[in-house]
Amino acid sequence: MTEHPINLFLVPTPIGNLKDITLRAIEVLKSADVILAEDTRTSGSLLKHLEISRPLQSYHIFNEHKTVQRLVDRMKAGEVFALISDAGTPAISDPGFLLVREVLAAGLDVQCLPGPTALIPALINSGLPNDRFVFEGFLPHKKGRKTRIDNLVEEVRTMVFYESPHRLMKTLEQLSVAFGPERQACVSRELTKLHEENARGTLAELIEYYQTNPLKGEIVLTVAGKNPKA
Ligand code: SAM
Repeated sequence: MTEHPINLFLVPTPIGNLKDITLRAIEVLKSADVILAEDTRTSGSLLKHLEISRPLQSYHIFNEHKTVQRLVDRMKAGEVFALISDAGTPAISDPGFLLVREVLAAGLDVQCLPGPTALIPALINSGLPNDRFVFEGFLPHKKGRKTRIDNLVEEVRTMVFYESPHRLMKTLEQLSVAFGPERQACVSRELTKLHEENARGTLAELIEYYQTNPLKGEIVLTVAGKNPKA
């Protein structure tokens, strides 16, 4: 296959520890014509810290449908864009998929750099099997939530969920009812940050633990799949 110029780079940014930015991420951000950022204030401070000064344009779930075609037109005209989100890898539970799809549909090319994302360290820290796993992202808050959980009852692969601290208890309780209280799991909090914690145990043990221990910060919940022999 012939090599194409890249029109859109997806650039992962740290999920806590600023040292996790890669050398290539810095290089690509420095050379992009425009950096698309989910929150220009949050990304503005990161870029300042990295001494990167490129034009910044906001790109988030509330304007992506409206702006995507204009961005593709500008890429066709030769501008190179870099997309970043507030933290981690763009398009993973963050805006990006729509833009990638439309850029490819226009016959242009994209490249996602490898780098920080919360799901991989959480999965590995959990100590649960990781040869195969499913990433479930955020569960719906209300509509469709129970159906999503019920559909996972027979899942044998390790499951990874993103969760907010206010909803974690409810999720642990609902998963304990659906999968049984003895199912192994891990709550990874504040990954790469000063107060990183990986709490491992059964769903019942984790529910008990978080009745008395602080439950704040950013959270990834990893849950073992069904033991096929059980
Ligand atoms: N794009 C990001 C990624 O690649 O991981 C995810 C963005 S999503 C809007 C934010 C969620 O990611 C948080 O609610 C939490 O579930 C997870 N997350 C992000 N940073 C984290 C961290 N430092 N520790 C634990 N979970 C984190």
